[in-house]
Amino acid sequence: MTNAYKNYIGGTWVTASDGATFPNHNPANDFVVGTFPKLTREDTQLAIRAAHDALPAWANTPPPARGAILDKASQIISSRVDEIATVLTREEGKTRAEARGEVMRARDILRYYSGEGWRGGGDVLPSNTTGELLYSKREPLGVVSIITPWNFPIAIPTWKIAPALAFGNTIIFKPASDAPQTGLMLVEALIDAGLPAGVLNFVTGSGGVVGDELASSVHVQGLSFTGSTAVGSGIYGQAIKNFTRVQLEMGGKNALVVLADADLDVAVSLTVAGGFGLTGQACTATSRVIAEQSIADEFVRRLADAARKLKVGDGLQDGIQMGPAVNRSQWETDLHYIEVGRSEEAQLVVGGSPLPGSGLFVQPTVFDHVEPQMTIAQEEIFGPVISVLRARDFDHALELANAVPYGLTAGVVTNDLHKAFAFANAIDAGVVKINEPTTGLALQAPFGGFKQSSANTFKEQGQAAVEFYTRTKTIYIGHG
Ligand code: NAP
Repeated sequence: MTNAYKNYIGGTWVTASDGATFPNHNPANDFVVGTFPKLTREDTQLAIRAAHDALPAWANTPPPARGAILDKASQIISSRVDEIATVLTREEGKTRAEARGEVMRARDILRYYSGEGWRGGGDVLPSNTTGELLYSKREPLGVVSIITPWNFPIAIPTWKIAPALAFGNTIIFKPASDAPQTGLMLVEALIDAGLPAGVLNFVTGSGGVVGDELASSVHVQGLSFTGSTAVGSGIYGQAIKNFTRVQLEMGGKNALVVLADADLDVAVSLTVAGGFGLTGQACTATSRVIAEQSIADEFVRRLADAARKLKVGDGLQDGIQMGPAVNRSQWETDLHYIEVGRSEEAQLVVGGSPLPGSGLFVQPTVFDHVEPQMTIAQEEIFGPVISVLRARDFDHALELANAVPYGLTAGVVTNDLHKAFAFANAIDAGVVKINEPTTGLALQAPFGGFKQSSANTFKEQGQAAVEFYTRTKTIYIGHG
């Protein structure tokens, strides 16, 4: 029998008012792993109302007490890592090792923000008037909508929800319809840790209905969205009509530059980790490699060997190194871009086909001799497809790396310190990696893209999150 999961609004487990549901599939075998409520617009408004009603008490809860709940939730997640990781792999597809890493990241993020209860607050400033006390204090922003994608279904919700709660906001959280169960397990951990009713509301359903209501409601003070640039740009227009504070982190077309002096085995392992890890379904994935001409043939030969050896399959099985596409639409997108690459006459070196069977698997794929104007060099694919472009020299490599509308992450492989710094200074990307994969982030460091990868408003993670989730009030106290 299929599990029928519920939503959590105002401290009560609920279904959609009309009883509608949608199925959640395992992409490795197409089995239904559960159903979730498909909320209506009016149901979503009830969740916003619940968050609104819970705000005064939560905002006035002493920050250390809020932090203690996050700490407890971190411990609960810690005790359930394997269970949550299995659910994550089953609904999203990444390997069990990748899923465990993500769940442990969520645990650590909660632990990090639990400490915020004892930090921050504001500044006491020099006054222009004798005897006056002039200070600023940070207050919660208010009710915040959190809309997340499927590809990191616990890490991304956690890096938004944890700071939002630590700083005293109340939340309506809508996970992606392709991976809602992992997000639900995060919500359960916070409820079990003692979060009061209404502070965190969990809603599922269509992005165009539930997400749209969360983005366009006049009763929401903040909207934090991670997802595609297409959806993000649409909801930005709605949110700013109400002067809602907006944070959008979106797509990428990330390049790893391999310079002539690079250790090619290191360059290959960084490319495989960044391009095929997580099935290429990371916003920070390496989807372009820009190799200096003199080493490009040898680099591509070694990369193709490594790609051929990767074990692709159901992420719950031992030894699997790359899982399936998350859903049929993403699988078709991957295969579509492979066809486009062929038709634009890029050279297919390895992969390029689906695997037989019912799972949504695509072979790790490498195209060589990709030209910068080609579609596969410009558009986000979000699958295990790497385009290799060739550069005449360092300056040309930098020019190619910057020649896309996105600017999320970028990397360079080199032992030349001067070129490493020159790259870090000139690249138009929010995160730069030297001799590291383009994927992978430190939870204590600011994260966010440039150009069309972001709304370029507020960074996420680390101390940067305080800016988005608080508003600053300035107070002058004179003697009258
Ligand atoms: P998506 O299709 O844009 O969906 C993201 C979220 O928005 C989902 O919860 C979705 O709900 C919801 N949504 C869809 N249409 C909406 C609408 N009209 N109004 C409000 N919400 C709406 O993205 P995705 O396919 O889940 O994720 C992949 C994308 O996320 C890639 O482009 C990737 O680069 C990006 N990403 C960026 C980062 C980053 O930090 N920069 C990190 C991870 C992923 P439904 O699921 O119900 O449609």
